[in-house]
Amino acid sequence: MGPKAEVAPHRVMAEEAGETPAKEAESSADFGDSSSSSSEDEAKEPNTMETTRNKRKPDKVEAVQNKKNAESKQAGPSGDKDQPGEEAGPVTASGSGEAHSATGPWVPDRVKRALEKSKNFDEFRKNRPFRYLHLFSGEKDQLSVSLKKAAEKARLEIYVESLDRKKDKEINLAAPATYDEIDKSVEEGDWDGYHSGFPCGSFSRVRWRDTDHGPGPVRSAAHIYGLPGNTVQQQREADEGTLMATRSAWLHRKQIESFRRRALPEASTMENPQGAINTGSAWDLPELKQVLDETNSSVAEFNTCAYQSQLRRRWFKPAKWAGKLESLATLAKVCRCPEWVTHVPLIGKSATEAAGAYPEELADAVAIKVVDTWKRILNLEWLRYQMSVKSSEVNELQMKWLDNEDKRRKRLYEETKPVIADSITQEKKRKVPSKA
Ligand SMILES: [Zn+2]
Repeated sequence: MGPKAEVAPHRVMAEEAGETPAKEAESSADFGDSSSSSSEDEAKEPNTMETTRNKRKPDKVEAVQNKKNAESKQAGPSGDKDQPGEEAGPVTASGSGEAHSATGPWVPDRVKRALEKSKNFDEFRKNRPFRYLHLFSGEKDQLSVSLKKAAEKARLEIYVESLDRKKDKEINLAAPATYDEIDKSVEEGDWDGYHSGFPCGSFSRVRWRDTDHGPGPVRSAAHIYGLPGNTVQQQREADEGTLMATRSAWLHRKQIESFRRRALPEASTMENPQGAINTGSAWDLPELKQVLDETNSSVAEFNTCAYQSQLRRRWFKPAKWAGKLESLATLAKVCRCPEWVTHVPLIGKSATEAAGAYPEELADAVAIKVVDTWKRILNLEWLRYQMSVKSSEVNELQMKWLDNEDKRRKRLYEETKPVIADSITQEKKRKVPSKA
């Protein structure tokens, strides 16, 4: 972990949050394409999201074993190891790998293999699936659907690992051993994006309001790890909730470390309701505060209904998306529902669980940001590699782009203070004049 960030987050309103990316970088972000005409590719490129990994049994979290398997499988029929550019001369796989890791940032093996076997940028685009890890995805992972949609538009290959007990009974995200395995895969650079929407049940403020119908609260802000009067079972529930939240946060930090080692723009986030002042939300856990601080994470608060514009019955449910993702703060939105909208009260288990799923509009907004980041990563990895093997394919314009992009990444991800787009909290403060 880098030095601890000591800057106080500066607060801005949602409207002015989120820096727009430098336009010139955006427009040139695709010029790794130079080797072939893009209209031609459009026609010949298979329109499938399938990747080598997709066709196999979903790989859960057995990252290590799979890496070894992939090593032998992925040479594939088009496993041409020749490098572009005659002048560069023949480059052996091991030679180029060493040269690259010695001079530049770390490149995970799966990416190295894709670089080595791709003769041009378009082949690299096909050979390099972007891998996204989604913890607590729910039964129907809307974020995964949105990511696939956005990636298809950008002609990127992706693989999304959606982990949830509701999808697969064998997955136990309340067990420390599961996280140990995932930790390993994150450390080895297996993922290009991460999100955890860990369960909010034990942190829920509804527990305090709805004591007649529900199980009652198991923690408060003052007793964030569990109320003193908890029964054994209640404390167990609190402990599980704490574990899922903290391990999710530590994975977020690990994923950020992975991006830093690779010197890549970052896409790693978490989501949970922000709760009320006294009821004890997950964000009140010291572990989560520390991780957000150390990773320089930004925050966006939103009312779920702001992302349900097509529905008559909506969920007011306020939530918080936090982490590292370019222009994340623009996700902040406050309820501005017209009168004909009903805010459905979230009382009882089934209503609360239903409202745990992300609305399509929200997932789409997140997915576009993630895929924009991946487009940059694809170009960065390709051009850096070409530079490292001294390929004649890299022209001056591309070298300049690479240089600018590196500066841009440092500025946006390492030097810029996190943006705290807490518009809901601010609005509440305005409406309820200091009662606390
Ligand atoms: Zn609303």
